[in-house]
Amino acid sequence: MIIKPKVRGFICTTAHPEGCAVSVQEQIDYVESQKIETQGPKNVLVIGCSTGYGLASRITTAFGFGANTLGVMFEKEATEKRTGTAGWYNTKAFESKAKDKGLYAESLNLDAFAHDAKDAVIEKIRANMDKIDLVVYSLASPRRKDPDSGEIYNSVLKPVGETVTRKTLNTDSQEVSEITIETATEEEIANTINVMGGADWELWIEALSKAGVLAEGVKTTAYTYIGKELTWPIYGGATIGKAKEDLDRAAQAITSKLSGSLNGSAYVSVLKAIVTQSSSAIPVMPLYISLLYRVMKENGTHEGSIEQVSALMFNELFGDSELTLDDSNRIRVDLKELTDEVQNKVEALWHQVTSENLNELSDFEGYQKDFFKLFGFGYDQVDYDADCDPLV
Ligand code: NAD
Repeated sequence: MIIKPKVRGFICTTAHPEGCAVSVQEQIDYVESQKIETQGPKNVLVIGCSTGYGLASRITTAFGFGANTLGVMFEKEATEKRTGTAGWYNTKAFESKAKDKGLYAESLNLDAFAHDAKDAVIEKIRANMDKIDLVVYSLASPRRKDPDSGEIYNSVLKPVGETVTRKTLNTDSQEVSEITIETATEEEIANTINVMGGADWELWIEALSKAGVLAEGVKTTAYTYIGKELTWPIYGGATIGKAKEDLDRAAQAITSKLSGSLNGSAYVSVLKAIVTQSSSAIPVMPLYISLLYRVMKENGTHEGSIEQVSALMFNELFGDSELTLDDSNRIRVDLKELTDEVQNKVEALWHQVTSENLNELSDFEGYQKDFFKLFGFGYDQVDYDADCDPLV
């Protein structure tokens, strides 16, 4: 099969297995080039392990600390006629490279919100791993089926308390226009918290702890984005931000449960805005990220998922110095994005940017390259005109 990108709105419906393998290898190379001076976890569970920040977490702990990893993901397997999803190919590539290094690496393609997924993970840990010393919670999902009631909750991306009009970018047509988003109802806020809040993270830790598969001193972290004024009305202060606030509550609840005999701890880690399958679906974010990339690249402070997660693991969670915590006890790895200098420059460009000057004022080119790379496209090492077996 000749595999080319097929973009529908903000998603690419095809993925290239060889390109995804190159993307995984580049992240491994980055981690292996780091001077790592601390000891890290040896048995890691990553929930949401196949793309974006979760994949970077798996690569960082495996190739940085030599950890055995178990991953949970929700991806589509390839068939003879259709490519698998990028997360499917990333995971195949990761598993093969980790095994070459003598590391245990297995992945379960299951709905992480279900009780069955927790049971299956516990069974795998008991059969193949020592007790888990790090649990990374990196899910991004538009819906959640409540594991007890069976009710399905859908999350929405809407402002809270006000209708918001903001510039946005259609990444497909490259048009900058204004979008007006109505304020969310109370029910929509509650549903979004149900999907992207801390409830499922708590259920995971409860199940793992009850099963006795967590090691003494276990750490767990869930990822969040906060941002500043430009994105606040549609992210930090919006429905998704309300769900993310619930992670702070969950972190406290988990820490108080784990701090007894296990001496464990839970942290919310704040990471910077990057191009992922999830962020490309959020209105306003692609335009903000295109401008941010330009400013941070010019400043020499640009980072992607692997750099962010490496900083989190090597300098913060398992570093020698004190944690960089904010008032809500969250670990901050996003601070270079939020300096006044960076934000003021982004804001100045924000007011000027139009469809006509998009490429001149922003790093939309960099945004697009990163977007295609998420699906394994745009790598010089890969011959995209060559026949390729979608079944890996
Ligand atoms: P992503 O879309 O790249 O990854 C989502 C992962 O969740 C994938 O591995 C997917 O397979 C898995 N998943 C989704 N639904 C699932 C289900 N029901 N069962 C099992 N697995 C499921 O997203 P991302 O951007 O890397 O986001 C990961 C986390 O990082 C999120 O909490 C997000 O809010 C946070 N974050 C993202 C950004 C950003 O700019 N992208 C910034 C800061 C924090």
